Amino acid sequence: MLEPVFSSDEPMRLRALRATRQLDAPLEERFERITRLAKRLLGTPIAAISLVDAQRQYFKSIQGLNVSETSRAVSFCGHTILGSEPMVVRDARVDPRFLDNPLVAGEPKIVFYAGCPIRAGDGTNIASLCVIGREVRDVSEEDLRTLCDLAAMAEDELAVDVATAAQQALMEEVDATKRQAQVDSLTRMWNRGAIFALLGSEISRAKRWGGGVGVIMADIDHFKVVNDTHGHSAGDEVLRQVAKRMLSAIREIDALGRCGGEEFMVVLGGCDSVASAKAIAERVRQRVGEAPIVTDFGSLAVTVSLGVSYWSGPGDVEENALVRAADDALYAAKHAGRDRVEVASGAICPQTE
Ligand code: GH3
Ligand code: MG
Ligand code: MG
Repeated sequence: MLEPVFSSDEPMRLRALRATRQLDAPLEERFERITRLAKRLLGTPIAAISLVDAQRQYFKSIQGLNVSETSRAVSFCGHTILGSEPMVVRDARVDPRFLDNPLVAGEPKIVFYAGCPIRAGDGTNIASLCVIGREVRDVSEEDLRTLCDLAAMAEDELAVDVATAAQQALMEEVDATKRQAQVDSLTRMWNRGAIFALLGSEISRAKRWGGGVGVIMADIDHFKVVNDTHGHSAGDEVLRQVAKRMLSAIREIDALGRCGGEEFMVVLGGCDSVASAKAIAERVRQRVGEAPIVTDFGSLAVTVSLGVSYWSGPGDVEENALVRAADDALYAAKHAGRDRVEVASGAICPQTE
């Protein structure tokens, strides 16, 4: 196996990569969309955006494989970023650079690879968009053009910081190592502490400047049955996929967190009415339930119940009151038959009670 070498611009490259603040940050739909497209258009089981860090490749987004990083030494993308053109490996099992690579000899048994470098604003290669298959295949010129177009889209997205002011503040406060402590390792969404901090920031903003804050509490229906019938790993896979579906249904300025177990919270920043909060919750419900979730353990039909609360400033509201109101509405949704959205009644605007 040939480990990827470091290029002469490595220090500059790493500075540019870290400046994106994308290492160890939560998953984002704008990148998920690109890897989903790459997988679908190139017809491969796996697609990823790999950020090539000092010692590891960190997957900003990955479809078809449940890992968030590997060492740089075994990475294919570490080789891709050394050039300016796409790198194609037709059959890794006969390529001297990769034939005894553990990702080829063992899981996920890579055979085919095609990757296109992604540049930072300063021209250094910081990442790669790649598609991976378990069978030998040839790529057409058109396939490569598609891959490069999608890589260019990822390049544009990496250059733009679309996080809300609150999310930016949370990410700026800390370096990548501490950022890990804010992200749920199973679903790669914000964890409980971080999503509550984001809610606190949104409320402070609304108290000072006016505007609304919406909270959605969501809980997977009969999730225990998934664990009991198919095992804990199937349950974990469902949690990951439900989280990704929820992420695809909310807006870019909203934040999704896992509060624990199979319960999630969405903080709707700059939300103008209870009706729009409810509409987003309804979209989440539909997205989660619209098609069975495909896992190694079979296709599973999954639904989610949701409770919505809403408050608009200026004035005062307790963070916990807003969460409790959404929780009560969620409880009502469960009682009313599950797979539905309920809105907090009197507690929508606690300050007017
Ligand atoms: P309901 O429709 O009323 O919400 O029913 P439910 O079965 O979803 O709710 P219940 O609270 O009875 O069960 C939640 C289950 O979630 C129990 C627990 O074992 C499981 N769980 C919690 N965290 C995890 C996790 O990280 N992974 C897996 N696989 N299961 C988890
Ligand atoms: Mg549940
Ligand atoms: Mg629960």
